[in-house]
Amino acid sequence: MNRVYNFSAGPSCLPLKVLETAAREMTNYNNSGMSVMEMSHRSSVYEGIIAEAQSLLREIMGIPSNYKVLFLQGGATLQFAGIPMNLMNGSRKADYIITGQFSKNAFDEALKYGDAKAIASSKDENFTYIPDVTPDMITGDADYVYICENNTIFGTKYKTLPKTGNIPLVADISSCILSGPVDITKYGLAYAGAQKNMGPSGLTVVIVREDLIGKARPETPKITDYKIQAENDSMINTPPCYAIYVAMLVFKWLKEDIGGLEAIQKINIDKANLLYDFIDNSKLYKNPVKKEFRSIMNVTFITGDNDLDSKFAKEAEKAGFVNIKGHRSVGGMRASIYNAMPAEGIKDLIEFMKKFEIENK
Ligand SMILES: *Cc1c(COP(=O)(O)O)cnc(C)c1O
Repeated sequence: MNRVYNFSAGPSCLPLKVLETAAREMTNYNNSGMSVMEMSHRSSVYEGIIAEAQSLLREIMGIPSNYKVLFLQGGATLQFAGIPMNLMNGSRKADYIITGQFSKNAFDEALKYGDAKAIASSKDENFTYIPDVTPDMITGDADYVYICENNTIFGTKYKTLPKTGNIPLVADISSCILSGPVDITKYGLAYAGAQKNMGPSGLTVVIVREDLIGKARPETPKITDYKIQAENDSMINTPPCYAIYVAMLVFKWLKEDIGGLEAIQKINIDKANLLYDFIDNSKLYKNPVKKEFRSIMNVTFITGDNDLDSKFAKEAEKAGFVNIKGHRSVGGMRASIYNAMPAEGIKDLIEFMKKFEIENK
């Protein structure tokens, strides 16, 4: 069978070149005589891989030297607890902005650790927009303000970050990391699971400003303590070695083949515009998100008829456009068009959508 166009929200498609490099190096990495999977994480060969992963990520994202980059496990979900354990350490208050399932899950987890407060939510309109947050809504002595920057399930994205003044902004960037340039200095902490836009699952990247770490609660597991992980180059135990290696290949692809984050952003905007323009001009399909908050990574659309949505997803699958069914909590369709989805995939999908529309008039 040929490769399909995989619109999965995560784990999602990876650049073919990265997969081919990994395949070529599978049994003998760089003349080491073994696979990266078989290597001691303390070996000099592996130390070279993790160091290169870190330095490439720092370079392409422009991460300043006063930020630590950690390669952790447990998914984005472990950080829902890791963040309060490490950062809810002053007033033990934190503000959460609820823009979907993942920010709600993070908020629920934070409630176990202190005085978490949901200061705004877009639940009233089924998370189809990003609520406005003005400085007076923010708790004056909060330890941090938490957002989910790109809402994978609902297809919304912050276009400007909330202004939090001196209070550190913490952002889940799992589904928008590496989709375009960012100014890391706007965040106290930004983190992402790898399986959306960086590599295989099993790796979570945490980027955290140095002055915020070192005050974790005493009961924090060592493995979740940012200071201890930073001091040990993310290796207090065995790191997710192979996932870090593949992420390193993805970083290299972004730098050398794409030309960095400005270049990929341009490609991503063009890709997303193709699909949104088609949806906006069609009679059958509709994108429920308020235009100014549309994600360029996750594009949701509905026909307005649940049975027709199911038929669409089934026929799309047969035609080689897989994992396009919307999240079980929203229904409809969702095309996740991360960095690795080629423009051809979107053009071909649009042709399929046209044909489906004619056949189902
Ligand atoms: C996928 C996703 C998560 C959950 O990630 P896990 O690694 O499965 O814990 C959290 N936040 C966002 C924005 C996501 O897209």
